[in-house]
Amino acid sequence: MDDTLTGLLRPKGVAVIGASTTPGKIGHTVVKNLIESGYQGGIYPVNPSADEILGLKVYKSVLDIPERVDAAAITVPAKFVMDITKECGEKGVKGLIVITSGFSEVGKTKLEKELVEVANSYGMRVLGPNVVGTLSNSDDLNASFAPFLPLDGNASLVSQSGALLIAIDAITYTRRIGFDKLVSIGNMSDVNFADMVAWLNEDENTKCISLYIEGLKDGRRFINESAKATKPIVVLKAGVSEHGAAAAASHTGSLAGSQKVYGAAFQQAGAIQATDLSDLFDCTLALSLEPPMKGDNLLVITNGGGVGVLATDSAEKEGLPLKFAPETVQEEMKKHMPSFGSAKNPVDLTGMAGNDWYYDTTKFAFAHDWVDGLVVLYCETAMTNPMEIAKSIYKAIDETGIKDKPVTISFVGGERSDKAMQWLVENGIPAYNAPDLAVRAMGTLREYARLASMKSEPIKEVHNVNREKAREIISKVRADNRTGMTEIESKKVFNAYNLPVVKTEMAETEEQAVSLAEEIGYPVVLKIVSPDILHKSDAGGVKVDIKDEAGVRKAYQEILQNAKNYKSDANIHGIVIQEMAPWATETIIGSVNDPTFGATAMFGLGGIFVEVLKDVTFRVAPISEREASVMLNEIRGAPILEGTRGETPRDKNALAQVLSSYAYMITDLEDEVSESDANPVLVYEEGKGVKIVDARIILKEE
Ligand code: ADP
Ligand code: MG
Repeated sequence: MDDTLTGLLRPKGVAVIGASTTPGKIGHTVVKNLIESGYQGGIYPVNPSADEILGLKVYKSVLDIPERVDAAAITVPAKFVMDITKECGEKGVKGLIVITSGFSEVGKTKLEKELVEVANSYGMRVLGPNVVGTLSNSDDLNASFAPFLPLDGNASLVSQSGALLIAIDAITYTRRIGFDKLVSIGNMSDVNFADMVAWLNEDENTKCISLYIEGLKDGRRFINESAKATKPIVVLKAGVSEHGAAAAASHTGSLAGSQKVYGAAFQQAGAIQATDLSDLFDCTLALSLEPPMKGDNLLVITNGGGVGVLATDSAEKEGLPLKFAPETVQEEMKKHMPSFGSAKNPVDLTGMAGNDWYYDTTKFAFAHDWVDGLVVLYCETAMTNPMEIAKSIYKAIDETGIKDKPVTISFVGGERSDKAMQWLVENGIPAYNAPDLAVRAMGTLREYARLASMKSEPIKEVHNVNREKAREIISKVRADNRTGMTEIESKKVFNAYNLPVVKTEMAETEEQAVSLAEEIGYPVVLKIVSPDILHKSDAGGVKVDIKDEAGVRKAYQEILQNAKNYKSDANIHGIVIQEMAPWATETIIGSVNDPTFGATAMFGLGGIFVEVLKDVTFRVAPISEREASVMLNEIRGAPILEGTRGETPRDKNALAQVLSSYAYMITDLEDEVSESDANPVLVYEEGKGVKIVDARIILKEE
């Protein structure tokens, strides 16, 4: 555990620099909050022109404080922050909570950078600037200007928005969702989400890590730290802008909106993505109270058909479609429920069900091995008392002694139901006011188990790559003052990474074209090679299925003519002759260099699937072969690879291997390559492999 961060977030003494005697000022509020939260460490207001604030002695400088100071909350104007930082460094402070704004968020990036440099040179970490502060129930610490500590609980939240953090603080009481720590992360000049995930993962009082993210700074590190974490992580990502898409030069570029790449990154990080603020709370509640759901068998118990149907629909949506329990389980179950009910799934206890039936059925079902997760639903009725039902369910669960299986609950009704649910939550069972939310919570617990089993896959090194060769080709293109590489140049780079490109040779004369065609063997394909023509077929620069010498001569001339007509001043390197690959399922593999995550790979089916339906999926590179297989399965058009309409299944193993090698290549060349694609990649039937017939690399601008 990072001790410096511990000093910052769980300090033994706090100085408030810029402490004020004037109520309402932030420098006053922070002192007041520290006192009111019951903080037991030393509280040291610092202000050169005051003697006492709220009964506490005021120091002229942090250097005058005789005791140990771990954290300094800074509220003085931005222009004074630098001097204060140095004094704090001299004092041996561990971390600065820079509440002051007026740094990078208003363009003062340099000042912010200097602040961090100076702080780090003393071994201090910086939270912020532009933060609300940090709160910790286990330390009775409210070192912020948020009015009070949140409802106590197991989750900890890090928020990039200060205003939202204050709002969430208040919501914890109305939603009855408890947090141990709330940390405002502000401009993230130093302490960022990756640091916080790593630290909270070690924090004894945090069971679930909740994050409100607007943008990450070091995407790769975030993925790595999150993948290493052993606690559930749930994120709400704000901002759905598809930045950069318009300027993208390749197909992949135009498809890779930041949101899609973020989505992929969160998946790789093993983090659950909440859909909205309300969902963030719902997921946090489930993840902070319940263990992961380790299998797909979800059982729903209900007293009402309607909520049962809603739960069934939701289960389908969550990827946990309800199955009937085996006959033997149903027979057993019938012994624990009213004879007129249904033991199928949902198990319907009917509106007649009272405390005893709820108790009996819940206890049997929760203890049964077939059940991986249990959702108990209740519709308020005139004849039953919600609180008694809640207590019956709680007792049933508790008596099984089972701790490694999740349960979620939904009561639908009025005030009495709300009270009963609040009681359940206080007793450690997540409860929601709608059946679909209880199922969604279970879906989250299942997703957590799935993600946990996927992450931290060791990435297989692709050996025998000819890195030098690839770099040499790139250097030549650079020497030619270009960023767009031709197909044959790109294919040579692909080749250096063992990617299966079709045999492709360059001809500079018609005669050469003929002899190369003979050498490769008919039928062949001829294509224009020009750095000025990146989309060759648009320019009439591709002729396929050429069967003889006469065809080669004709195609050679036609392509040259077409190219001139298309762009009279195009620089033409020549014409490539290549092996004509037999028809197969067309797919596309591509890459972008994402501003946050770096090299990112894309996969999709070719043709209309990518053009019209944008049916593609992303992963931050590198990716394991297993992860690549998951990508193949997660596009909507996935069944096509299984072989639809009487076709044989496609060679998904080979395709996953190629996708993984490709991701390796783009990671290895991340410093050079801006975008790339292999379009199309032809996929043959099982055992017959894949062939890349077209390749494109666009280098970064220097
Ligand atoms: P571009 O994408 O620049 O227009 P391509 O090289 O992808 O040019 O060629 C266009 C189309 O021609 C491909 O999508 C593919 O259907 C077909 N094609 C290209 N090269 C071959 C080849 N070697 N074997 C079989 N078909 C090919
Ligand atoms: Mg192409």
